[in-house]
Amino acid sequence: MDARLANLLNQVDQRQDELISLVETLISFETPAPPARNTEDAQQFVASFLEEKGFSVDKWDVYPGDPNVVGILKGTDSSSHKSLIVNGHVDVAEISPGEDWETGPFLPVVKDGYLLGRGASDMKGGLGGALFAIQLLREAGLDLGGDLIFQSVIGEEVGEAGTLECCKRGYTADFAVVVDTSDLHIQGQGGVITGWITVKSKQTFHDATRKRMIHAGGKLLGASAIEKMMKIVQGLQELERHWAVMKSYPGYEPGTNTINPAVIEGGRHAAFIADECRLWITVHFYPNETYEQVAKEIEEHISRIAEADIWLRENPPLFEWGGTSMIVDRGEVFPSLEVDANHPAVHTLMASHEQVLHKQAVVGVSPTVTDGGWFGDAGIPAAIYGPGNLENAHAVNEKVSIEQLTHFTKVMIEFIYSWCNTKK
Ligand SMILES: [Zn+2]
Repeated sequence: MDARLANLLNQVDQRQDELISLVETLISFETPAPPARNTEDAQQFVASFLEEKGFSVDKWDVYPGDPNVVGILKGTDSSSHKSLIVNGHVDVAEISPGEDWETGPFLPVVKDGYLLGRGASDMKGGLGGALFAIQLLREAGLDLGGDLIFQSVIGEEVGEAGTLECCKRGYTADFAVVVDTSDLHIQGQGGVITGWITVKSKQTFHDATRKRMIHAGGKLLGASAIEKMMKIVQGLQELERHWAVMKSYPGYEPGTNTINPAVIEGGRHAAFIADECRLWITVHFYPNETYEQVAKEIEEHISRIAEADIWLRENPPLFEWGGTSMIVDRGEVFPSLEVDANHPAVHTLMASHEQVLHKQAVVGVSPTVTDGGWFGDAGIPAAIYGPGNLENAHAVNEKVSIEQLTHFTKVMIEFIYSWCNTKK
């Protein structure tokens, strides 16, 4: 290893207090989502931090009070070296009233080798570690041949795709690492899409007409949208079971690909036949599937069920998929991400991990979803790799091990330096 790089890794230990203090600063910004729209100060801090380290910074509002920050450090020889995106979300899980925190969710504290505070695991530890890695590389004057792009995004906790907005704005690289909670495993992920299925009658009937629409000789072709929705719920269960039997993916328990009927809304008043019923579903799918594919499978299956029903044939169910926010339009998409274990950046990341931890790197899948899927969706090779574990993400007294945070920072120094100095 480059002696200057080895010296930098030692510095992480010597300057651990600075690393902890940086993560504490990030935690002290109150950025829970919901309610969201509260990341301006935190993002300004990240923007200034990057500017001081020589990055040019692009900061724009995705929502008022929720800006994305992208810092770009041009490589010394960009055209012939690999580029890297380091991505993390600055929003954290919500706080419920009455939670019993050691000191308060936004008053970080060190205890028994852990740093406690909202976001310690998910994922201000990851953000802070990556920023500190960049600081040390810059201070040591270690040049990077390729471009380094640092993305601090908003909205991840509520399905508001700050990362998608970065992709749409044209930011791309030869590889992206999402430094979200992964317990230092290199991970891909399955995806999630939410959808609304609506059964709607063309006509509205009074409650007193029910006898005419369900009994012999009534001569009224009508139906309760709620009762017809029951057929659809049953159909979804059949499809879910079929998927559980027929589909699988290494690293996931069979049947992880579920269709959850999460919320049902329907009917207008006891004096009417229900003329509309809406079902909100959450669909989990595997890394090798796309949200477009699974949505199509569901639509096709449910449409066949509707075809076989005399009333639904005339009043076919409507589908609305995804959404850009659980707050604004009650819908979200997290695309899936497949990690290519043979990708040279994944090899470099594995080697950096093994060098620092003296343990074999694990390449697997995340049991949850992150913004990593947006890179998969945009065709940018990517992996999730960050400190903290999921037992801690979103928990009261959320914490991250300081040893792991230190390991992560060292791995990032080595990975950024190695990958951005790899020839194209
Ligand atoms: Zn996260």
